[in-house]
Amino acid sequence: MADMYSKEKRSEIMSKVRSKNTKIELDVRKALWARGVRYRIHNSNIPGTPDISSKKNKVAVFLDGCFWHGCKKHGSIPKTNTKFWKDKINKNIQRREKVKAELKREGFTVLEYYECDLRKNMAGIIDEITEYFRF
Ligand SMILES: [Zn+2]
Repeated sequence: MADMYSKEKRSEIMSKVRSKNTKIELDVRKALWARGVRYRIHNSNIPGTPDISSKKNKVAVFLDGCFWHGCKKHGSIPKTNTKFWKDKINKNIQRREKVKAELKREGFTVLEYYECDLRKNMAGIIDEITEYFRF
């Protein structure tokens, strides 16, 4: 199917797909906080600047947008500027692999969730994340 938007319009739309402080990310943070989980957000002293992390508990959590992180189910690449977006998303994926290796070397547990999984199973994921924060 052809893209219904012009190249310019598509770029504008995509640039608005936020990757930080998204609604779902705020929901996760709120739910964890309510559970008594204490964490740092976007701590740039930890490799990859995880969305949620704890140095003490050695946990790094990444909440990934389906688009930016190439979710197999929802990470559809725009039909215009395809190469540009593909490269960009591939770079995100490669960067994450490097970051994960680095974090693991430093003894961190890495948890990654796609936006769609969070929507489907928020409660289960909150339980899972909570397990890793021993406070
Ligand atoms: Zn998805």
